[in-house]
Amino acid sequence: MSRPVVTAAERRRVVEAVPTGLFVGGSWGPSSSGDTIDVVDPATGEVLVAVADATPADGLRALDAAVAAQDAWAATSPRHRSEVLRRAFDLLMQRRDDFALLMTLEMGKPLDESLGEVTYGGEFLRWFSEEAVRVSGRYGTNPEGTGRTTVLHRPVGPCLLITPWNFPLAMATRKIAPALAAGCTVVVKPAELTPLTTLAFAALLAEAGVPDGVVNVVTTLSANDVCEPLIRDPRLRKLSFTGSTPVGSTLLTQASEQVLRTSMELGGNAPFVVFDDADLDAAVEGAMQAKFRNVGQACTAANRFIVHESVADEFTARVVERVRGLRVGAGTDDGVSVGPLIDDRAVDKAHRLVRDAVGRGAVVETGGHPVDGPGTFFEPTVVSGVAPGSEILTTEIFGPVLAISTFHDEAEGVRLANDTEFGLVAYAFTRDLARGQRLAERLQTGMLGLNVGVVSNASAPFGGVKSSGLGREGGAEGIHEYLETVYVLTPDPFAGS
Ligand code: ADP
Repeated sequence: MSRPVVTAAERRRVVEAVPTGLFVGGSWGPSSSGDTIDVVDPATGEVLVAVADATPADGLRALDAAVAAQDAWAATSPRHRSEVLRRAFDLLMQRRDDFALLMTLEMGKPLDESLGEVTYGGEFLRWFSEEAVRVSGRYGTNPEGTGRTTVLHRPVGPCLLITPWNFPLAMATRKIAPALAAGCTVVVKPAELTPLTTLAFAALLAEAGVPDGVVNVVTTLSANDVCEPLIRDPRLRKLSFTGSTPVGSTLLTQASEQVLRTSMELGGNAPFVVFDDADLDAAVEGAMQAKFRNVGQACTAANRFIVHESVADEFTARVVERVRGLRVGAGTDDGVSVGPLIDDRAVDKAHRLVRDAVGRGAVVETGGHPVDGPGTFFEPTVVSGVAPGSEILTTEIFGPVLAISTFHDEAEGVRLANDTEFGLVAYAFTRDLARGQRLAERLQTGMLGLNVGVVSNASAPFGGVKSSGLGREGGAEGIHEYLETVYVLTPDPFAGS
C-alpha cells in the first residue's frame, strides 16, 4: 500500500496560505458578484478551498490596472526588470516544496513531478531575467547608401495571458516572465480547475518587487465572458493562450477584430516513431517519459506510437512490463508515478478511446479501465495493433494510454507521423544520423525529440506548426513575442558634408 508523505496539517498550511481573491492593481479582493469557485483535489474529489469568480467588470478592472501600470513598467531599466525576475526565481526555489505540494493538491500529478515542474517553471524566470538585458536592435546603411537604418524593439503593451490546468506553474511563468522582461504588463486568466498555483505565484511576484498593476490575476468560471471584452478592447495589445485548438481558434476569431498580436500554444498529436535500428532501451525509456509524464496530460505527450514491424513485438513487451510496474495513486502518496486524471470527463474520454480502438481490432496489453473509488483515476494502459481510422489516432488522448501501430519503411513511417492536423512535437528513435536529419526536415512539427522523450526547456523555442499554434515560447525567440519591431530611417549623415 502507498502511504501519504505529507501530513494533513502541511496540506492545510499550504492551501490556507494562498490568497483566494482577485489580484488587481496590487490589491486582493473578492469578485464584484461575491461568487466563488470551488477548487477540487482530483485525487479525492474533495474541495480544497474556494477562490473568487470574476465578472466581466472585474476583468475590465484588471485591464485598467495593467494599462495604468504599462508606461512606468516599460520605462524601468532592463537591469531592474531582470533583477525582479531573478528575485522571483530565488523566492520560488526557496519555496519549491510548498509550490510542488500546492500543484499536486489541485492538479494531481505526483509530488516528484510537481517538483520537476517547479524547476522547469522556475527556469523561465531565470532565463528571461537573463534575456531582459540582451534585447538589441541593429544599425546599418541602406543598400542605396542614401540613409541609415535603425531597428529597435519596444514592449508591445498590456497582454492577456490565458493558461491551462495541466502545468499550473510552468505555463504561467513561460508567459509572465518574457512579458515582464520585455516591459509589458499583464492580466493572467488561469484555468478554473487549477487557480491556486497562479494566485500563490502572483503573491510571490509582488514580494519579489513587481509593482502594483504590472501583474493582475482574474480567476473565473466565465472565461469567455471575462476574456472576450478584453480581447476586443483596443488597449489590450497582445493575447497569449495555451489550451485546446477549438478554444484557440475561437480566440483568434475574436482577436482578428483589432488585429491583435497572438501567441497560440494549442493541441498536439505527437507521433513517437521507433525505427528498426533504434536503441530499444532508449526508446522504451523515452516512451515512458513521453507518455506517462503528467499522466499523459500534456500537449507534448506521445499520442501515436508508430513502431517498425520488425521491433514492434519486443518494444511492446518491454513497454508493457514497465507499465505494469507503475503505481497509481494520489500524487501525495509514496512511490506513486501515475496520479489521477483531472476530472471525470478525462477518464470517460480515455475509456471511450480504448473501447473504440478495441472495437476496430486493437488488443489491450495491460490496463484499459477506470479505477474504482474516490478520485478520477485511469489504469496505465497499452493497446497494440491500433488500426487506421481509430479515434485514438486523431484525438489528443490526454491520459495514460499508450497506443501502438506499426509501419514497414521510412517513407510510410513519415507519412503516418505527418497524418494529422497537428504539428507540435514528434519523437523519433533511430541510430542513423542521416535518417535523423531527414526526419528533422520532413516531419511536420515545431519540435523533434531525436532519441529523447522530453523536449521542453526554457532555453529552447517551444511551439508548433499547423493546428498546433502560432509563435514560440522560451528561447531567444520567447521575448520577441512581447516586443514590437520598429524601423527608423534617417538620411545619409554625410550627404552635403
Ligand atoms: P482544456 O480542454 O485543456 O481545459 P481549454 O482550451 O478549454 O483547455 O482551456 C484552456 C484555458 O482557456 C483555460 O484557462 C480556460 O478557462 C480558458 N478558456 C476556455 N474557453 C475560453 C474562452 N472562450 N475564452 C477565453 N478563455 C477560455
